[in-house]
Amino acid sequence: MSFCDLAVAGVQGLQAYQPGKPIEELERELGIKDIVKLASNENPLGPSPRAVEAGQRVLGGVHRYPDGNGFALKQALAAHHDIDTRCITLGNGSNDVLDLLARVFLGPGREAVFSAHAFAVYPITTQAVGAKAVVVPALGAESGMPLGHDLDAMAAAVTERTGVVFVANPNNPTGTWLEAAAVERFLERVPRNVVVVLDEAYTEYARGVGCPDGTRWLAQYPNLVVTRTFSKAYGLAGLRVGYSLSNAEIADLLNRVRNPFNVNEVALTAAEAALADREHIARSVELNAREMQRLNAAFAELGLSALPSAANFIAVKVGQGDQVYQALLRRGVIVRPVGGGYAMPEYVRVSIGTERENDRFLAALAEVVQK
Ligand SMILES: *Cc1c(COP(=O)(O)O)cnc(C)c1O
Repeated sequence: MSFCDLAVAGVQGLQAYQPGKPIEELERELGIKDIVKLASNENPLGPSPRAVEAGQRVLGGVHRYPDGNGFALKQALAAHHDIDTRCITLGNGSNDVLDLLARVFLGPGREAVFSAHAFAVYPITTQAVGAKAVVVPALGAESGMPLGHDLDAMAAAVTERTGVVFVANPNNPTGTWLEAAAVERFLERVPRNVVVVLDEAYTEYARGVGCPDGTRWLAQYPNLVVTRTFSKAYGLAGLRVGYSLSNAEIADLLNRVRNPFNVNEVALTAAEAALADREHIARSVELNAREMQRLNAAFAELGLSALPSAANFIAVKVGQGDQVYQALLRRGVIVRPVGGGYAMPEYVRVSIGTERENDRFLAALAEVVQK
């Protein structure tokens, strides 16, 4: 007997999510310091100082359970989005909310539709609850948005078994995005009894190129759920806070399966302070835009092509992605290989860092690809 035979069918076929390599792990392996990690799309400026201060202030009270309803953070988010607090579901990262959505709207006999080269959590959460993943081929390399979501094909893949469609805008790991008209046409076309999850983890970075704020459609499409996170532009990946905005009935369903106290008190408090620090977000977005241009220019100079990105990372075509990843590791630079489940073996994904971090990356990359 193997315990794998005892696991539920969906879990038997799963592979664990591969996170970006931690700095400390590479330090141990190489015995070197000054490692640059550009592998998990974290904010290179760090968290807002106001968030750090707020989190520290409540640490002394952590013998108490957190506010399981997240009252204060929900109030702040409701004001920020001009939406009723009953429409907000807080998660231990938005990943947690994606799991809640799968538990409520997927299961054996149901299907989840998502794009090829989309976020790795969609197939995991789908399979884990026994639902079937329907992976829709992405747009071709010759398209105006190479490897981007093909929304027409995704809408066509919806059947009476579809419980959820996952749409990432911008998408990770491609960085590609969908324009307002295309999203609206898609929402119009998908039946109202199918939940559309618009995952906007990188939305703060994406305004400059015309990637829409999906919350504008919430009132019109009751089957729309928009997910957001404090892990990326807000710089709180280590605290794990995300949320969804949806109609109140969907939020109530998610709340039924939510772990009590899924978001801790330090995270709740820091997220509220981070939300209020608009200067930190503006600085982060500005740095990202500037360094994105510089990285793209450097890629062109090296003769490398990159996918268009509206996010804080770039997928760059390097040939043998895994070899380039390994060669960069030996030079103390951690990027993300995107072969495997992402099916982009010719690319690596690099998060946009500070100017100094990007310089280190570019110097190492030039050595590796010109060898
Ligand atoms: C990083 C990311 C998330 C956010 O994950 P958290 O659990 O909020 O840290 C969600 N969706 C996509 C597409 C991402 O890349």
